[in-house]
Amino acid sequence: MKARDGMYIGGQWRPARGPDTIAVVNPADEQVIAHVPAGTALDVDDAVRAAREALPGWAATPPAERAARIAALRDVLVARADEIAETVTAELGAPLQLSQTVHAGVPVLVAGSYAELAASYSFEEKTGNSTVLLEPVGVVGAITPWNYPLHQVVAKVAPALAAGCTVVLKPAEDTPLTAQLFAEAVDEAGLPAGVFNLVTGLGPVAGQALAAHEDVDLVSFTGSTAVGRQIGATAGGAVKRVALELGGKSANVILPSADLAKAVNVGIANVMSNSGQTCSAWTRMLVHKDQYDEAVALARAAVAKYVPGERIGPLVSARQQQRVRGYIEKGVAEGARLVAGGPEAPRETGYYVSPTVFADVTPEMTIAQEEIFGPVVSLLKYEDEDDALRIANGTVYGLAGAVWAADEAEAVAFARRMDTGQVDINGGRFNPLAPFGGYKQSGVGRELGQHGLSEYLQTKSLQF
Ligand code: NAP
Ligand code: MG
Repeated sequence: MKARDGMYIGGQWRPARGPDTIAVVNPADEQVIAHVPAGTALDVDDAVRAAREALPGWAATPPAERAARIAALRDVLVARADEIAETVTAELGAPLQLSQTVHAGVPVLVAGSYAELAASYSFEEKTGNSTVLLEPVGVVGAITPWNYPLHQVVAKVAPALAAGCTVVLKPAEDTPLTAQLFAEAVDEAGLPAGVFNLVTGLGPVAGQALAAHEDVDLVSFTGSTAVGRQIGATAGGAVKRVALELGGKSANVILPSADLAKAVNVGIANVMSNSGQTCSAWTRMLVHKDQYDEAVALARAAVAKYVPGERIGPLVSARQQQRVRGYIEKGVAEGARLVAGGPEAPRETGYYVSPTVFADVTPEMTIAQEEIFGPVVSLLKYEDEDDALRIANGTVYGLAGAVWAADEAEAVAFARRMDTGQVDINGGRFNPLAPFGGYKQSGVGRELGQHGLSEYLQTKSLQF
C-alpha cells in the first residue's frame, strides 16, 4: 500500500519531527502493508500553529465559497472512491463491497450534505432587538477511531469547515492510510493551506498532545468511553468545548405485533455489518417471551449466512480479536447459551471472530451491559412492554436503537420512552442529516446535519 512518510501541515507534506513510525497491518492476513510516521507533541504543535494561522482567513471566507470548496472535496472523494475502498479494506479488513458502499459511499453523502448546509445555513438570527451571529469556534482538534476510518473523519471535518473552523486531525493508529488519502483529497480540492492538517500518531502521545493543546478551541473525539472521559476532563479543565461520541449497547426491541422474521434478520445484519465494530450496533435483541424460541431459531439461521472471510471480515487488530473472544468466554461463564459461534477463531490467519449469537441472556450479564465491538448478538426475553423498556434503558449507554411493531404509531410511542439518541422505526433508512449522538454515557454533542454543524459554532449577540 502507498503511504506518505510525512505529516500534512500548512498545505504541505512535511517530514515528521521524530523518527518513530507505526506499522500498518492488514487484519485479514496479518501482513505489514505500510509504515506511517508516529507524530509527537512537536508535530501537533506545528499543526495547531498552521491551523491557527489559517483561521482568520477561512472564518472570513463567505459561506458560499466554503460550500464550494467542500463540494470540490466531495467530488474528489467520488473520483477516488475505488482507491478509498481498497485502502479501507487493506487496513480495516472490511469486505470490499462494504468498503465501496459504506466506507467510501457514506462520506460522499455527508460531505455533500455539508456543502449544501454551508451554502444555505443562516449564520445570523434575529431575536427582539438583537442580532445573533453564529461564528466559528476556532481551531478544532479531531481525534477519530478506526471502525469507520473515513466517515468518522468527514463527520467532523466537513461540518467544522462549513462552520469556518480550521482542523487538526489525529486519526486512529490502526487506519492512518485512509486519513492520508483524505488529506490528499483536501489538497486536491484546493482548500487553503492550514485549513486542514493531519498528524498521524499514537493516542497517548499525539492524541493526548492535541486534546491538551492550549491553542485548540474545541476537541471532538470519537472512541472508547475510557479515553473520552479523560479527554472530557482535560478539556473541562482548560475550559474548552468538547464533543464526545462514545460507545453504545443499543437495543433492538421487537414488539409482539412486529414481523418477527424481518426484525430478527435485519437485526442480525445490523450487528454483523463491519464485523460488529459499529458504536450504534443493535447488540441486544429484545423479544417477547412467547416468541423467544422462534426468534432464537431465526437468529441462528440468519447468522449462518455470515461466513468469515466472505461476507464478514476480520476484526481490526489482534487486540480487538482477543478482547471480543474474551467477552464470548465471559458470556458462557456467566451462563448465557451459545446458539451460534463461540470463542474459537474460525480461521487460522487473520483476526477473525466467529459470528456469535447468545440466548438466555439476562440484563445484568456482562455481555448485556458492556460494549463488545464484535460480531456478537445477545437475545434477551421480556415479559411485557414495561419490562422491555426497563431492559432497553438499563445500561449506562444510550446511542441508538430500533423498535419494530405492526403499527408505526405503536413503535413510535415506545421509541419516545427510550433513553437513546437515535431510533430506527421498523427498519428505517439511514439519513445523513439525522443528528447522531448519545444520551447518558454514550456521549456529549451531536454529529451530522444541522445539529452537527452547530457544534462548531459559537454565538455572539449584538443589541440595537
Ligand atoms: P480508543 O483508544 O478510544 O481510540 C479512539 C481514538 O482516540 C484513537 O485515535 C486513539 O489513538 C485515540 N486515543 C487513545 N488514547 C488517547 C489519549 N489518551 N488521548 C487522546 N487520544 C487518545 O479506542 P480503541 O482502543 O481503538 O478501541 C477500544 C474500544 O473503544 C472498542 O473496543 C470499542 O468498544 C470502543 N470504540 C468505540 C468507537 C465508537 O465509534 N464509539 C470507535 C472505536 C472504538 P490510537 O488509535 O493510537 O489508540
Ligand atoms: Mg487505542
